[in-house]
Amino acid sequence: MSRITVQQLADEVVAPQYRQPVKTLKEALAAVGWAEVDRPTCCGKEVVMQSFLGDAYFAQCEVCRKFIRDVTGPIFGNGHVTLIDSDTVDLDTDKQWICGTQVGL
Ligand SMILES: [Zn+2]
Repeated sequence: MSRITVQQLADEVVAPQYRQPVKTLKEALAAVGWAEVDRPTCCGKEVVMQSFLGDAYFAQCEVCRKFIRDVTGPIFGNGHVTLIDSDTVDLDTDKQWICGTQVGL
């Protein structure tokens, strides 16, 4: 069975309006203007992080709604969690992040 790339995964799991070339964490942070620190701040507040088993996979500013997301992070469905594993996705890359500004809800 052949594995898909992280980019292909991103194009599957990310809503169309947020689809983009996947980035390294550094590139994603630079794109939203956050410092490369454990707890970046934005709009004068600490950004809110979500992590799973110790790995942060999502961070967002509650004020301006800018976010970064690790597309290989867990996907929470209706009462279940889908984990991405290296059997199905080629995770041998640092480019696993997307960023943007949440619109709508
Ligand atoms: Zn902000």
